[in-house]
Amino acid sequence: MASIYEFSKKIAQSLLPQTLLHQLEPTFRQLAALPYYGRRHQCNICGTQLRTFVQLERGDALCPLCGSLPRQRRLWHLLQTEYLPKGPTLHFSPPRSLSQKLRTLLSQNYVTTDYEGEFKADHAYDITAIPESEERFAHIICYHVLEHIPDDHAAMKELYRILQPGGWMLVQTPFKTGPIYENEAVTTPEERLQHFGQADHVRIYSVQGLRQRLEKAGFQTKVLKFHESEHSQKHGLKNGEQVIVCHK
Ligand SMILES: [Zn+2]
Repeated sequence: MASIYEFSKKIAQSLLPQTLLHQLEPTFRQLAALPYYGRRHQCNICGTQLRTFVQLERGDALCPLCGSLPRQRRLWHLLQTEYLPKGPTLHFSPPRSLSQKLRTLLSQNYVTTDYEGEFKADHAYDITAIPESEERFAHIICYHVLEHIPDDHAAMKELYRILQPGGWMLVQTPFKTGPIYENEAVTTPEERLQHFGQADHVRIYSVQGLRQRLEKAGFQTKVLKFHESEHSQKHGLKNGEQVIVCHK
């Protein structure tokens, strides 16, 4: 089923313009979700009860109804518990399912941005030159963004500048063990795919490497690491997942 699901999605993406895709996505998902309904699992974002999640080729468990990935469901759980946002929040590259929840929760305090236009967002800010005033936000969510940014130091300085003292930022990227992997000789999309795992990635961070860079930009950091539990099984979360929490 996974391959049929992904195949249909690719066909739709190649045939339909982006705006129409955004409109049709919920309908497409409702149809595609039919074989997945059950009682064993539950998506904690859209609330749908599932027999199983859709297992994507790269190993992620996708909710067929709202399209959420494990890291997004974990993030929503964090935002409902330990990291409940209580003030102006900037969310980079917000997935639709999460973005709708946070918009309801935060209303005018929720600001979204996506530079590439891949996600529907309020702004298309360049993360290395964010047109927002100093200390504008109490919280920032920056998931799977920094690994796309050549000058990540400039980006981190900007994130620090716009965060309020006492505020927090949640950061995640794909991680490897050992040092950060960068390579100036790797410049084409094909090479980047081969070296960094995705055609538009410019490095692979390690948790420790990214922490050091964030601390150099001024943040205090800590790492949350999650292990298998009843909760993680039920909601299709990833064991060993790590999130860096930054404080200013
Ligand atoms: Zn869902």
